[in-house]
Amino acid sequence: MDRIGEIPGVALDEVQRLMRDTCRRYVDEVVRPFVARNREREWLFEPAARLPPEILEQAEAAGLRHLGVPDRYGGVTVDPLTESLTFAVIAAEIARGDAGISDKLSQNWKVSVLLRELAPKHLQDEWFPRYLADPQFLMAHCLTEPRGASDRWLSYNAPEAAMQTRAERVDAGWRIDGRKQFISNGYDAQLYVVYASTDRSAGMLDGTSSFLVPRDTPGLQVTKCNETIGGRYMNNGEIVFDDCRVPEDHLLAHQDALGKAGVYFRPGKILQAAKNLGIGVAAFDDTARFVQERVQGGRVIIKHQAVAVRLATMATKLEAVASLLQRAAVAVDTRKPEASRLCDMVKVFASQEVLRVCEEALELHGGYGAMLEVGVEKYLRDASVYLHMDGTTDVSSFKIVKALFPETAGAYAGPE
Ligand SMILES: Cc1cc2nc3c(=O)[nH]c(=O)nc-3n(C[C@H](O)[C@H](O)[C@H](O)COP(=O)(O)OP(=O)(O)OC[C@H]3O[C@@H](n4cnc5c(N)ncnc54)[C@H](O)[C@@H]3O)c2cc1C
Repeated sequence: MDRIGEIPGVALDEVQRLMRDTCRRYVDEVVRPFVARNREREWLFEPAARLPPEILEQAEAAGLRHLGVPDRYGGVTVDPLTESLTFAVIAAEIARGDAGISDKLSQNWKVSVLLRELAPKHLQDEWFPRYLADPQFLMAHCLTEPRGASDRWLSYNAPEAAMQTRAERVDAGWRIDGRKQFISNGYDAQLYVVYASTDRSAGMLDGTSSFLVPRDTPGLQVTKCNETIGGRYMNNGEIVFDDCRVPEDHLLAHQDALGKAGVYFRPGKILQAAKNLGIGVAAFDDTARFVQERVQGGRVIIKHQAVAVRLATMATKLEAVASLLQRAAVAVDTRKPEASRLCDMVKVFASQEVLRVCEEALELHGGYGAMLEVGVEKYLRDASVYLHMDGTTDVSSFKIVKALFPETAGAYAGPE
């Protein structure tokens, strides 16, 4: 029988089931014991030392860093017709152990897909082997700036909504100036994909370009690790570009970078929902165990109907998220026209429903739910982060309506 909140085994092929089993062993033998032994670590340790290197080394050994990398470089061969579904299954499983670790790894997969699709061959020849050679190697995707993040997600194609970060042609390449914030893996990545305006007179969709920028490029400075409420084993960072120069051949997409980034955004939403789901499954599993052990009123509390009903609600929500996730992932993989709207739907639905599942977990654990050493409070914190990743709930909902009613919804309202 399939577990609560998991994509059914019959929907997966042999390779995907094997990958899930391998991943499950990594989570149960490495990640969950580490998290349980180190409840305070995510708060007490400096960002650079927070996650011991063995955790990513073991992920490497389980083949979990290789997703998205072409097999000619030693990546994991994943059927392109089921790639998003594979991402969903693996990301949910890792997040069952820890959401931040799942963020860290899945960010690498997404950037690998983007490079696989957009980077010229010589850049792939250079960076994929370097990435695979070092289990600690991280990549980041730099879109968000202090101003206008939601405008980009919507995406308003007006010059006023353009990126504040700019790139200008200089003698042998490009000069980038600007600031990016809230970037997953931003604090400790070795390689960044950076979006910048290259034509201020054009709309955002026609005047934004993307660049590959190695961390040691002069003019790139990581200025901050953001201390977040959840997902704390992923170091979210802020990066400043000041006269940062990259050669001409580090241009990934010219002018239509946001359109070309669809290969990153759609699996991206699937991954956000999947990580959410993994947190919810962990919260449910812990709660199911607790209510069958904890005694009040002379009986284990699952025998009290109010408790049982809450548990049923949690399970139903997780099954609903898993079903929509599967449908959205299949739509992406089979390039269905409704894929984008389903991606937004599942991202929003997962973020709201899993947050409620985690609230129920907290309620059913009584006072234990508030205790750091028990770990249930962590699920609520971790789940809360997903309301805003890859677009806020409201902005993503608006995108759903725009997709459903393109003629009447979603025109840019203009500057105040
Ligand atoms: C943990 C984490 C990881 C992240 N990782 C990355 C990353 O790797 N790369 C990256 O580029 N970004 C990343 N982000 C940034 C994320 O995409 C943005 O935070 C998100 O898009 C929201 O942008 P904002 O924070 O500027 O909020 P704002 O855009 O300022 O939104 C504030 C509020 O205003 C509402 N709002 C905004 N515009 C409208 C409108 N037109 N109509 C109605 N309501 C509106 C929003 O819904 C929200 O409620 C990350 C964020 C978090 C929290």
